[in-house]
Amino acid sequence: MIDTPTLTPAVFLDRDGTLIEEVNFLSRVEDLKVFPFTRAALQKLVDAGFLLIVITNQSGIGRGLFSERDMHSIHEALAVEFDGLISGFYHCPHLPDEGCDCRKPKTTLIRRAAEEHHIDLSRSWFVGDKNIDVLTGENAGISTCLVSTGYGVLHKALLEARPTVFADNIGDAADEIVARAAKG
Ligand SMILES: [Mg+2]
Repeated sequence: MIDTPTLTPAVFLDRDGTLIEEVNFLSRVEDLKVFPFTRAALQKLVDAGFLLIVITNQSGIGRGLFSERDMHSIHEALAVEFDGLISGFYHCPHLPDEGCDCRKPKTTLIRRAAEEHHIDLSRSWFVGDKNIDVLTGENAGISTCLVSTGYGVLHKALLEARPTVFADNIGDAADEIVARAAKG
């Protein structure tokens, strides 16, 4: 008999402007500033049964502004900061016009993570601060949340994004997602 793994819902998280302060082409751990409410928000989501997966466009690598190694140093620092609450970090290193198949709003990284972590997309969310994050979630057929941190206020004002919910920040987003999950 084939053993089918149990599928778990996930919250896919944009990194810059969502979990941490927006810094243009962040490449040095000393410039990393985690929002004060992020750690508790991630704990709340994990306690509610969600896997946490970061999906991030890092074209600074393709532009030659920093290396994959620099980016991994940032992700290692975040893994420590968040006590391993994040199950996976997925990134696209390419330029916007390179025609790759992994840059948000494409869903390749979501699909890859869903397969590797046995994720139930029908109960999953994408949370980010840009229209492109909302589009990524929509393209994957999952619920979406636009936060007002980072570029969020600007992108909310552009009225392009039509997320499932708006939230002030990742803390507010976690409250909303957990409340909706509890309602079923
Ligand atoms: Mg962002």
